[in-house]
Amino acid sequence: MDKRVYNFSAGPSMLPLEALERAGAEITNYGGSGMSVMEMSHRSKAFQQIFDDTQAKFRRLMNVPEGYKVLFLQGGASSQFSMVPLNLIGKTGKADYAVTGNFSNIAYKEAQKYGQISLAASSADANHTYIPAQDQLKLDPQASYFYYCANNTIYGTEWPYIPDTGDVPLVCDMSSDILSRQVDVSRYGIIFAGAQKNMAPAGLTVVIIRENLAGQELPYTPLMMNYKTMIDKDSMYNTPPCWCIYMLGLVLDWLDGQGGIPGMEKIKHAKAQMLYDTIDASRLFTCAAQPGSRSDMNVTFRSVSEELDAKFVQESIAAGFTNLKGHRSVGGMRASIYNAMPTEGVEALCDFIRKFDKEN
Ligand SMILES: *Cc1c(COP(=O)(O)O)cnc(C)c1O
Repeated sequence: MDKRVYNFSAGPSMLPLEALERAGAEITNYGGSGMSVMEMSHRSKAFQQIFDDTQAKFRRLMNVPEGYKVLFLQGGASSQFSMVPLNLIGKTGKADYAVTGNFSNIAYKEAQKYGQISLAASSADANHTYIPAQDQLKLDPQASYFYYCANNTIYGTEWPYIPDTGDVPLVCDMSSDILSRQVDVSRYGIIFAGAQKNMAPAGLTVVIIRENLAGQELPYTPLMMNYKTMIDKDSMYNTPPCWCIYMLGLVLDWLDGQGGIPGMEKIKHAKAQMLYDTIDASRLFTCAAQPGSRSDMNVTFRSVSEELDAKFVQESIAAGFTNLKGHRSVGGMRASIYNAMPTEGVEALCDFIRKFDKEN
């Protein structure tokens, strides 16, 4: 293959070409330093500059208010499933979880090791095809925090609202929709996201934490899983994921050029709408997610039979698309259309769907 494909992978996924090309140009000699960012001491002046610039760009683009710290950690989003309860549950020993898909279910189960966890809402009754409404949430005012996952990568649903939990801090897994829509950070206690969907290569986990939530960790909290350790050392208690932080900086520069997050929000919504309209207008295909809960990032759909699904996936590869097969636990198809998927890629997929619909 001599050209880039339209890669609909759920993650790791496409990165903006502009960011990849800049990284390529600088790969052996960054900014006249005579070395690659991969080879730099994380304590060097050159790397500290990259780190500080990336922090500043992230804070500006996400509108992170005073009193919040942005951490660049490792361990993936999944490490936060343990880190959140270890650090926060000590307050009352209780927490509320909304289970709307695979990853929130893993987080819910993991948290049970550390305290009394209530199922505040679940969409398991309808195979996670919808997001529970505010009045369906069973809220405990004594909960140390309320946990939910903003975008369900596997099922293709996305919360259309921010839950109102009164004084109970909100903790949100935004791994698969961070930087795609405007977020009022002040509504949250903690926002976290693995980088490999919308930000950077795998290996970096971004945590936005209201600083006064740290410092109440359970006594046996591992050093590396203590937010306080990382806040006090500005994410550099040990070696941070240097290369990924650098790549995030390049992706943020690109995002800036798209009109920042407000600009990206319009672009990504138009892309998703185009795809949903095409699926809704077809004879063969239906969407898994219910209207009102549909994700703008992961579009899940299926045809009338498994045989036809397989044929669709097969022919899509020949047509220059990749990774359209649905997650093994749901079947069907899934098109992940994160920020870096160009509009032309979605247009091409829509053309392909229409053609397949006519021919079969
Ligand atoms: C991909 C994903 C995860 C898991 O991320 P890792 O970095 O692999 O641990 C967790 N939550 C959501 C919403 C995801 O999309």
